[in-house]
Amino acid sequence: METAPKQTMSYKYDDIAASIERFDPDYKDDITEKQFFGFPLKAVLEDEKRLLNPEIPSVAYFSMEYGLAPSIYNTFSSAHSMGEKNQFFTHEVFSNYWLADYIFKIHIDKMLDIPIYSGGLGVLAGDTIKSAADRGVSFVGLGILWNKGYFKQNFWYKHGQIPEELQWDPDAYPGLVPLKNIVYLDTREGRLALRLWKYYVYSYDKKHVCPLVLLDSNVEGNPEHFKKLTDQLYRSDDVWWKIFQRSILGIGGMKALDSLGYKVDRYHLNEGHAAFALLEKYISLQDKSQMEEHRKKFIFTCHTPVAAGHDRFGVHDLSRVLTQPYIDAAQMFGKENPSSDQVNLTLMSLNNASRMNAVAQKHGEVMRLQFPMFKEKIQAITNGVHLHTWLSESFAKLFDKYDRVFGDWRKDQHNLLKVLELKSDAAFRKDLFEAHQQNKRNMISIIRHWGLREDVFTISWARRIASYKRPALIFQDVKQLVQIAKEQGPLQIVVAGKAHPNDNLGGAHIDKIMDHINELNEYRDDIRVLLLENYDTYFGKLLSNSVDVWLNNPLPPFEASGTSGMKAIMNGVLQCSTLDGWVVEAENDDIGWIFGYRHTGTDLGGEHDARLQEDSKALYEVLRQAVALYYQTYKAGQLNAKSAWIDKMIHCIQRAAFFNTDRMVSQYESEMWKLPS
Ligand SMILES: *Cc1c(COP(=O)(O)O)cnc(C)c1O
Repeated sequence: METAPKQTMSYKYDDIAASIERFDPDYKDDITEKQFFGFPLKAVLEDEKRLLNPEIPSVAYFSMEYGLAPSIYNTFSSAHSMGEKNQFFTHEVFSNYWLADYIFKIHIDKMLDIPIYSGGLGVLAGDTIKSAADRGVSFVGLGILWNKGYFKQNFWYKHGQIPEELQWDPDAYPGLVPLKNIVYLDTREGRLALRLWKYYVYSYDKKHVCPLVLLDSNVEGNPEHFKKLTDQLYRSDDVWWKIFQRSILGIGGMKALDSLGYKVDRYHLNEGHAAFALLEKYISLQDKSQMEEHRKKFIFTCHTPVAAGHDRFGVHDLSRVLTQPYIDAAQMFGKENPSSDQVNLTLMSLNNASRMNAVAQKHGEVMRLQFPMFKEKIQAITNGVHLHTWLSESFAKLFDKYDRVFGDWRKDQHNLLKVLELKSDAAFRKDLFEAHQQNKRNMISIIRHWGLREDVFTISWARRIASYKRPALIFQDVKQLVQIAKEQGPLQIVVAGKAHPNDNLGGAHIDKIMDHINELNEYRDDIRVLLLENYDTYFGKLLSNSVDVWLNNPLPPFEASGTSGMKAIMNGVLQCSTLDGWVVEAENDDIGWIFGYRHTGTDLGGEHDARLQEDSKALYEVLRQAVALYYQTYKAGQLNAKSAWIDKMIHCIQRAAFFNTDRMVSQYESEMWKLPS
């Protein structure tokens, strides 16, 4: 224990003021007796008390990344300027309407998301903590303050993606506060100091908060190379970085809980990255035989369906970072087999956690195949998304307008099921399509210089660029695309995504997309294709709620869950998807079109055979149907509200009643955390 935890259960304004570094002058204008950056302070005072109270069971959730999306949800206000570095507004576009690319950029007046996420895993962690707050769970998140974020993506014609270091300013970021608490890690290279920061995640009704505690190695007094340890998320050019970053999350995270005096009853490891938390628990015990008891408190969620995705480190490499007691414990808890010199963090988590889960039912099957020795223990809880973050304003208004059917849908999200009662309501069907068109017009106005049209079929593929997600599948045979457009009507395609800077294959996908866009230059009146720079949660929301069809074409069974399609369905956006991840659970719900390779049996196959030929053919086939149905539904401003398209939109909303994090967290509460009430 680094600092004496508070034993009292009272928590007052003065305690907050005293806990913050440079409170006066930097934070006293934003944190007053009533307000926390424009939000009610009462929720903070109440919920801090719960975390300090040993009588109330609390959950600590460890995650390498968090996508909180404060630019689109629960945006704090500040009396101070948020600083130029925390704003982010220009995005290049690479399109087949190159004249626009040449003259314009997309300008958006927005706040930079706290840049501590890379993709779906982080967005899920952010949505989880938000739903925990909504549900009033006593919950604290642990993560890392990435001083240089993930990276900034720049497009260079003929060079694809050029990664650049991202600059932001944590000191001026609204709602993010540095604490006086410092925790220390003993390492092979000496003592590493880590500062704690705090960011309160408020519930949608602002009655509760869950603190997110972030560890930061950029501390005065640390050796220079230590200060950079928490610079870049998933820096992977040497295992030394990886091991240090995982030690900071797992070991540092446990020390942070101690330092804050939080009384935690459940330790939830989101992915194997956080497994070293187990080592810290073990090392901290005077009586090692108590570990059995403590193991019961550990819960593990696995997100990785591919063996290569699991972190493994050689004992030799671990000994470059960790001290001997930790290395001994790591070998005891996570060695792949008795004669191996590899420690596997997924195994370490599986070996020691009392409960473990996959993130969709299909992923549960895959995980049981991969880890047959744990097959009895592996549960599956399907991921979700946070409704209040991802639902568009026009759809919230629509649900409110029909509140006689939807009731208090903000609180009771399963009420969205009742949309079926409106299926034959002609006025609702029209209103639903109009709410969608409003979102589409909004997106088009933001990307205005590229001349997109609201009466043209629009499809989007946007997510992290990874080979198994097959980002260029729709461009596999551009002649087919042209033919579809000529036969059925024009198309608009919007693509976005970042590839990890060290992932050469990922970078190659971006080059390939650019080449295909060039091939479509002369067809720009039939098919307009845009590739947007720097995909983030802002674009995630903008695109997923506004296009007509959301494209999701991972190679089964490598998408553990996927969540961007869930953002789309709550906004009535149809799915065009392969049968993988969450989509398997919606196969028969008529939410769009399902195509391509189906994984069955016990052989997982390999990512090297991407099945691009056969699956692109299957994609063009369903695309032809989708475009045909679209123009039967909406043409030249005329809506046929009886169309099966509108039925599909209604089915999407119906399924959004399930694919949300409110339902997911309620399952974690009852099945994984099993908190005594
Ligand atoms: C939702 C989201 C993701 C996850 O997308 P998948 O389809 O699950 O891969 C990734 N990045 C951002 C910015 C998102 O908003």
